Amino acid sequence: MRAWWIAILWMPFASATPLWVDQRDTVSVLLAPDVAQALAEPLGQPLTIRWADEPKTLKRQVAQTQSLGWGEVSSSAAALVELKTGWVSRQDFPVDQLTGRIGRPEASQWATQLSTQTPDATWFSYPSTEQGLLRVIDGEIDAYVDTLANLSAAMTRLQLHGLRLSTGHSTMDMGLFSAPDFPDKAKLSRAVASLKPVVKQRIDAQFRLETPVSTAHWPWGVAAALGGLWLITLILWRRDRQAPARPVQMARPSQPAATPKVQPTEARGPAYLNEVNQLLQKEIAKRQAKEAELLTVQDALNQAHRRLEQQVRTDGLTQLANRRHFDEQLNKEWRRHAREAQMLTIVLMDIDYFKKYNDGLGHPAGDACLKQVATLLHQAFNRSGDLVARYGGEEFVVLLANSSAQDAAHQVERLQSLMNQAAIPHPGSDVSPQVTLSMGIASCIPLADDDPWGLVEEADQALYQAKVDGRNQYRVVAA
Ligand code: GH3
Ligand code: MG
Ligand code: MG
Repeated sequence: MRAWWIAILWMPFASATPLWVDQRDTVSVLLAPDVAQALAEPLGQPLTIRWADEPKTLKRQVAQTQSLGWGEVSSSAAALVELKTGWVSRQDFPVDQLTGRIGRPEASQWATQLSTQTPDATWFSYPSTEQGLLRVIDGEIDAYVDTLANLSAAMTRLQLHGLRLSTGHSTMDMGLFSAPDFPDKAKLSRAVASLKPVVKQRIDAQFRLETPVSTAHWPWGVAAALGGLWLITLILWRRDRQAPARPVQMARPSQPAATPKVQPTEARGPAYLNEVNQLLQKEIAKRQAKEAELLTVQDALNQAHRRLEQQVRTDGLTQLANRRHFDEQLNKEWRRHAREAQMLTIVLMDIDYFKKYNDGLGHPAGDACLKQVATLLHQAFNRSGDLVARYGGEEFVVLLANSSAQDAAHQVERLQSLMNQAAIPHPGSDVSPQVTLSMGIASCIPLADDDPWGLVEEADQALYQAKVDGRNQYRVVAA
């Protein structure tokens, strides 16, 4: 009954079946017969396995087992047999947990009985049945065959006539067992040794099935990842290279979007070019939107900057140029007039009896008066080269570019006329019932090395003279 031995040798593989069936369904089950077949050949005994498509069939066969005096071994019970009798066994197979839960109780009992009959059995324990078997084939084949002989003897003693190995998918009848049937040990050794290629094949298959990216194959994994990375980089690089410079340049939002031109080559299909074109268009639109946004922000910033500059050089109350701005402009115009040898004129003016105005009408009225005077000054000195500034307090100054004292005198008289028309009441004034100004005019053709403040000083002296002479008048310092 050589087939019996073939089945016995197949048991280690069958023991792994529940795991495989659970995880991989029938694929792994199909691997077992090829091992059995490989073993059957050198033993000169063909092997037949029945596949039980119908669970009912399987159940009926199993039910007959004990009544026929056979031992029934389910795949999990086979693992138990391995453990108890010292077969090659998977270290990670939870045989103890399976006992009494999976497989028929008789099988478990049968396995226990067998184990008591084989106390000297050697237990070959390895991470997997196949790896263990490979190790056996490579170095411990004699011990393995001895273990099989022990098992054979134990079965004889237990008067088991045969075994029926069942998995979830198949049953295999192992014929009547008797010691004389035990094959020649040397022949069995050769048969087991001949299993090497098929066991190796199974190990490879397990790697592929159980661990698709095996740790043993990590260099390939790394190479594949690097290859992928390289491919992506290449695609991106080509996209960048193929994108023409013009479409990705910043364009002002007002300008129409440039249409990207991609040079067609044999290597690129129309779909690819279309994709590149769409990407470029999107990029252009994005950049234009961004630029429009930036321009808006920049406009706001420029406006804020201009407002700040304006504030820095403007008098808050009258909105005329402030003293600081006047000083800057005086220096600038002084140099320019010196270069061009042009006449520069300054008019310094002061409101008469303004203290009394405040005292009589209140400070807020004084502020309002200052504003009114500022407006009149604007009207009187309205040429492009005229700069009217608040010099301080109730004093004002006008810088007249390219103007003589005579020109200035005309404008001053015009101002006086406007003041008369405005007729801002000044009840406290000793010189007039309305607000009046005293003014000093000074003019010269500047010399670059001279101090411009000399001219201001002269205008101040002329103003002082106007005050002394009775107020509400102007005096001129001849150049
Ligand atoms: P004079 O004719 O000699 O110039 O006499 P005055 O009173 O105008 O001269 P004074 O310098 O004695 O007085 C200037 C007054 O101007 C004093 C101050 O209260 C007032 N003044 C200066 N700046 C302001 C201002 O911003 N608002 C108001 N309401 N008054 C101001
Ligand atoms: Mg004053
Ligand atoms: Mg005054």
